[in-house]
Amino acid sequence: MSTLRFHAVKSSLKRQPQKIQESNKRSEIFGSNVFNAVAMRQYLTETGLQSVTEAIEKGTKIDRNVAGHISTGMKEWAISKGATHYTHWFQPLTGATAEKHDAFFETIGDGIAIEKFGGDQLVQQEPDASSFPNGGIRNTFEARGYTAWDPTSPAFIFDGTLCIPTVFVSYTGEALDFKTPLLRALQVVDNASVAICKYFDKNVKKVTASLGWEQEYFLIDQALAASRPDILLTGRTLFGHSPAKGQQLDDHYFGTIPARAMAYMRDLEHECMLLGIPVKTRHNEVAPNQFELAPIYEEANLAVDHNSLLMDIMQKIAKRHNFTVLLHEKPFAGVNGSGKHNNWSLSTNTGVNLLSPGKTPMSNLQFLTFFINTIKAVQTHEELLRAAIASASNDHRLGANEAPPAIISVFIGEQLTKVLSELESVTQGKLSPKEKTDLKLNVVGKIPEILRDNTDRNRTSAFAFTGNKFEFRAVGSTANCANPMTILNAIVAKQLIEFKEEVDVLIDEKGMKKDDAIFNILREYIKTSKDILFEGNGYSDEWEKEAKKRGLSNNKTTPEALKVKKSDATIALFESLGVLNKVESEARYEIEMEDYILHIQIESRVSGDIARNHVVPTAVKYQNILIKNVTGLKTIYGDRFREFAKEQLSLIEQISQHIEAINSLVTEMIETRKKINKQSNLEKKAQGYCKKVKPLYEHIRSHCDKLEIMIDDELWPLTKYRELLFTK
Ligand code: ADP
Ligand code: MG
Repeated sequence: MSTLRFHAVKSSLKRQPQKIQESNKRSEIFGSNVFNAVAMRQYLTETGLQSVTEAIEKGTKIDRNVAGHISTGMKEWAISKGATHYTHWFQPLTGATAEKHDAFFETIGDGIAIEKFGGDQLVQQEPDASSFPNGGIRNTFEARGYTAWDPTSPAFIFDGTLCIPTVFVSYTGEALDFKTPLLRALQVVDNASVAICKYFDKNVKKVTASLGWEQEYFLIDQALAASRPDILLTGRTLFGHSPAKGQQLDDHYFGTIPARAMAYMRDLEHECMLLGIPVKTRHNEVAPNQFELAPIYEEANLAVDHNSLLMDIMQKIAKRHNFTVLLHEKPFAGVNGSGKHNNWSLSTNTGVNLLSPGKTPMSNLQFLTFFINTIKAVQTHEELLRAAIASASNDHRLGANEAPPAIISVFIGEQLTKVLSELESVTQGKLSPKEKTDLKLNVVGKIPEILRDNTDRNRTSAFAFTGNKFEFRAVGSTANCANPMTILNAIVAKQLIEFKEEVDVLIDEKGMKKDDAIFNILREYIKTSKDILFEGNGYSDEWEKEAKKRGLSNNKTTPEALKVKKSDATIALFESLGVLNKVESEARYEIEMEDYILHIQIESRVSGDIARNHVVPTAVKYQNILIKNVTGLKTIYGDRFREFAKEQLSLIEQISQHIEAINSLVTEMIETRKKINKQSNLEKKAQGYCKKVKPLYEHIRSHCDKLEIMIDDELWPLTKYRELLFTK
């Protein structure tokens, strides 16, 4: 095994940056592998184009006949780009994307073949999907599922295959994927927001949620990564002593990007350009070999698809550069983990960002309305928002002194805190003309100026306002953004619906003017949302204590965090919005819990294997060398040998102790797993893995890591942290 380590190190040292093809003007190639507006105009009939445009803008259904025209146009375009196959491209609840390629090629008898792609094949398919996670839905109802075209996310070509973004649902209509509930949530937040916008501007017809994700990742040499069974099977290191140098010198963040990594990034960005993924920013992150990639924000559904697609092609392109991409939230202990900040906002079809202060007092009141309602939504549903980012891998990051804590709080900065406290003292009931003018001029009217030079930042906050958007920072780097985006947009929609009801009561029943009514309700929201606002250090112990006093949840592990998803309140919330029905909510809860269990189970197995079959044999080998040495000393020095063998004897003893501990812990872990696996109650099983199995392999690790610094480097089989992290 140690030979594998040294082979890997040797080949990694020989690598050169790959030469890549790149065009110098990215705007010229942007979207050239996407069936976008330009391609549609060229390849679709007038009716086809109109039908797709209406489906995108108004959500109208596409007629089967027209679908036939569209598919023909799409096929012609795809073939002109060299595509030979097509696939429905969807995001089942495995977290990965799914595809099944079919050739356009078809025989029509008499030895004749044609290229064909009919409307039916575009609109709907039935993948043999019985092995996708379904949380029992497909067993209890109808066994089949189908995929259906989502025209709001354009088709694209990757690797010679035309990919058609689709939803994935059961025959009885239950969502089996990430996209379906997201589309529903986006529709609800659209409707709810438009209704509020009408208070301010009658011309608003549509409100779109936007998302700009920031993807963090590690780039590790492929040979080095492959030499570690834990990285290969779990995406992270389960063992490894921290190197003498980690990130303490702060010399990586924003530093010069190493040449090999740079070539990779350029290659990746080139592919992103072709696929219409508008990536813009790249830089080194805090940990060694850690990087970030961020796009220009887009409509949330498209942005989610683009992030899923990106995660996929990141791996594929990495192979060309002999890299392995680690998307895991915590691949290495002791250095920073990776997240995926979700920057989120709402904007109107009239071009107004609703979370950006405007030019007039009235548009600022609109800003405040959306701003305060978002805060209120997070206050009410903080526990659900925490659940939105729960996963076995993100558990390592949340609250690990480098990432947002498991407590959800909102950071808004000093200036906006002041604005809110001024609004809090607004008179109850009707406002006097003077008070209103005063408010509009001096409080609401001043917001844009305040924000212009507001550079307030707080990296420790889970949910932060950053001038014209909220940044949901606790999202994990492996996550499919659809889940947090579905929940965020749903809770904001719910809140906006309630707000409208309350304002309308004041207008209709109390005869208040519109803006008086809005000020009145906002004032109450400010009063009742205080507990979620926090400006201090989210990593501190004081905050944990303070948050507890405030009654905020602090669910540190996934099984705890997910509980809220199956509560009556959550099920009712999603049902009332039409985002998820009861069956879907329960199924999702089950799938996520099972996913958690499986992840811990795999880590536990890998850990037992490495400890017993790699570490212990190496320790024994080294111990034998020491024993031979001591025996030799005894032959030379007779009874005086102890004087010269002090260190060796102590090492022999320590190694024995570690071996003994490792072996008994591995045995205990296997027995514990066996017992827990018999458990049929899902919660108890997840808790068992969380509270009993996981601590055992963490304990095993600590013994193995101690052996790592004791044993001859030449014998050690596991590629070390310094090799993984500092090979460029
Ligand atoms: P940082 O958060 O590091 O300061 P930026 O402010 O440039 O960086 O933005 C980070 C991400 O936020 C980018 O993907 C950007 O496109 C996105 N973003 C900017 N404005 C919005 C918005 N209105 N809605 C959603 N995302 C946005
Ligand atoms: Mg950011």
